[in-house]
Amino acid sequence: MTSMPTVKHKPHISSISDRAANEAQLREAIQAKLHYVLGKNRDRASHHDWYCATALAVRDHVIDIWMKTDERIAKQEKKRVYYLSIEFLIGRLLFDTLTNLRLVDAARGALRGLGVELDDLRRCEPDAALGNGGLGRLAACFMDSMSALSIPAFGYGIRYENGLFEQRIVDGWQQELPEDWLARGNPWEFPRANAEYSIGFGGSVEYVGGDDATARAIWYPAETVLALPYDTPIAGWRGRHVNALRLWSARAAHPVQLAAFNQGDYVGAVAARARAEAISRVLYPNDSTPEGQELRLRQEYFFTSASLQDLTQRHVAAFGSLETLPDQAAVQLNDTHPAIAVAELMRILVDEHDFSWEKAWTITKGTLNYTNHTLLPEALETWTVELLGRLLPRHLQIIYLINWLHLQETGKRGLTDPTLLASVSLIQESGEKRVRMAHLAFLGSASVNGVSALHTDLLRKTVFHDLAETTPTRLVNKTNGITFRRWLYEANQPLTQLLVERLGERFLDDPRCLEEIRGIADEPGFVEHYRRARLTNKARLATVMQQATGVRVDPHALFDVHIKRIHEYKRQLLNALETIALYQEIRSHPDRDAVPRVKIFAGKAAASYDRAKLIIKLINDIAHVVNNDPLVKDRLKVVFVPNYSASLAEVIVPAADLSEQISTAGMEASGTGNMKLALNGAITIGTLDGANIEISEYVGIDNVMIFGMTAPEVAEKVRAHFPGQQAIDASPRLKAALASLESGMFSADDPARYHPIVRALEDYDRYMVAADFDAYWDTQRAVDHLWQTPADWWRMSILNTAGTAWFSSDRTIREYARDIWHVPTT
Ligand SMILES: *Cc1c(COP(=O)(O)O)cnc(C)c1O
Repeated sequence: MTSMPTVKHKPHISSISDRAANEAQLREAIQAKLHYVLGKNRDRASHHDWYCATALAVRDHVIDIWMKTDERIAKQEKKRVYYLSIEFLIGRLLFDTLTNLRLVDAARGALRGLGVELDDLRRCEPDAALGNGGLGRLAACFMDSMSALSIPAFGYGIRYENGLFEQRIVDGWQQELPEDWLARGNPWEFPRANAEYSIGFGGSVEYVGGDDATARAIWYPAETVLALPYDTPIAGWRGRHVNALRLWSARAAHPVQLAAFNQGDYVGAVAARARAEAISRVLYPNDSTPEGQELRLRQEYFFTSASLQDLTQRHVAAFGSLETLPDQAAVQLNDTHPAIAVAELMRILVDEHDFSWEKAWTITKGTLNYTNHTLLPEALETWTVELLGRLLPRHLQIIYLINWLHLQETGKRGLTDPTLLASVSLIQESGEKRVRMAHLAFLGSASVNGVSALHTDLLRKTVFHDLAETTPTRLVNKTNGITFRRWLYEANQPLTQLLVERLGERFLDDPRCLEEIRGIADEPGFVEHYRRARLTNKARLATVMQQATGVRVDPHALFDVHIKRIHEYKRQLLNALETIALYQEIRSHPDRDAVPRVKIFAGKAAASYDRAKLIIKLINDIAHVVNNDPLVKDRLKVVFVPNYSASLAEVIVPAADLSEQISTAGMEASGTGNMKLALNGAITIGTLDGANIEISEYVGIDNVMIFGMTAPEVAEKVRAHFPGQQAIDASPRLKAALASLESGMFSADDPARYHPIVRALEDYDRYMVAADFDAYWDTQRAVDHLWQTPADWWRMSILNTAGTAWFSSDRTIREYARDIWHVPTT
């Protein structure tokens, strides 16, 4: 066991005088920004004005480091990393930046001198919600870690004018409202008018010169859209390095058709503009219509092409030719949304830079890498040949040629089984012909990775089994991570302060020393402080929840937290049914003591995902009945906190006692919410899925509550089209819970509302909700028992914090840097 840490952190004298100097300088800078940039008088300044002035003052520090970073990278000709992601779920940046520059206290002091509270300004910053969930948040954590580790990197994405919708709960139902994060300006971004690119769509391809083999293809697009870059500087830990997140905004090449305008056709005069600018209008257009699908493909090609044009131009400017691109650039494709990069880079190399096909293929395969995020067949992207050919005719030709050569190569290896060839082909031939984007990304990459050990293992056994056998592409694992700066230091100040007191400031630089608190997980003084930090966070969350929903909860109750996108595979329904069963248990034994529990849910459902929206309504219906039943008292409360976001997660995560990670085994690629919650000491109740498995290895299997079927068991039952009726018949508790849904006990105004949910379970229990119900119930009761033994509970909780250092995204990024990108880190 590691020795007990005894040294308490003592601030250096110099850091105190630094702080005073920083504080005075910041105060002056904030006042100057308010005055000269915002044109506001101190007495009339709103909180929002103060927020902007503070952001601008802090931004000056970031810019200084940014310029120095750029100079250094250019001089040293370092290899760069380009992270392409259609989503970046950044959240707010003020506290991130202050934390990384070690200026939180200085800013707080500076503002106090002006009669303003820093913490009141936090809420003024809108979340940059340019993502749906885990995938986009991963990209944001990676940006933070790449800067922390001084990796020269660009993030490339789309500057959506409207990010993820705002969720309101009206009468228990989700309603979507447009989100408007740019309405009051964005102090963090810099438009770069000098680096815009033309993005073509549609049109035709002609060949000139040479014979069939040597003719040059010229693509004449029917439509051209401009991509304008906006850069957001991302300051790394301790301000050592700054990278840019470059987000593309779509503009029409011609903003107005003057002739039409002068004829009085004001709408027609700007129609082309509206069509072009729709590309960066909203995150994830509803793709249940052909128009929506086409817009989505336009978004994907738009940002991929702009990013590749940008990075190839940068390379040519520095090194003369794209020949050496793989030595100087590593491109990471975050899922298949930028997979068209394979064809686009080939097009740039062959059509625009005159490389031979073979040479271009070597360069492409040496530069691109791809991260897979899902095994669910319905989530693997494909585009119909019709749509792809219409929107990107040259790219479809390139894809067909890649495929032809790939199938030839496969044949030459003696692999001629038609089933195998059909499975490795880029074209899915059954039904309407479609291009498989995951296959394209796989073929065009040097490395392909999954995002947890289980996920990568399943990739090897299923979707990429045949491709891995027939190609030289490497298939490796890179388990996801989270940035501790945001998810511990910023989100959980009471715990961070305690850890700094015990471990010293070095813990902030290297969380691996968290291991040392294993030795004090039983020390009463430490346990008491740890417990009190949690209680502080829970009291804060209770206030937030009361303001949002009107429901009052006791911060001393067990906070049971299920926060993530609403999706059937994430099984909020399983939790809801257990809640009903628990409610029935309390009602049938009204005099029995029960562990007071608050079931906390938060998450958004995709606007077109009716079943997920019905599950939200169900949770709210249950909450309504349970919270208003005088018999229940404080033994059970149910809260659905509206509008889940990164900022809301920062409030809920540090207040969680129990972390619900109950996806159907084999369906959650990794999860990162599980890591945030474990780091903050919540005990996981979960399945052996995604990174839950690795969490249980690192924190110890005795310190997590695992239940339910394993991935192979699920696969077996899915193959057999498992009818849930069998499991329902075997479980009186589940049967009673479902009967109450049938009877309209939770939907008196519409007794049939939940019949479809019950029918679906009985018929085909695809997500194993019925099959796993009893195991889940039993494990929840084991959680109750553990809560009643506080010494055990808190030891387990502390051991979760102690054991999760490995899940830092710094560790993940070090692995990408070493094994995939081949770039050094600090
Ligand atoms: C971390 C995070 C997610 C991902 O959560 P999972 O539990 O891994 O699905 C989604 N949304 C937000 C806002 C997050 O912060």
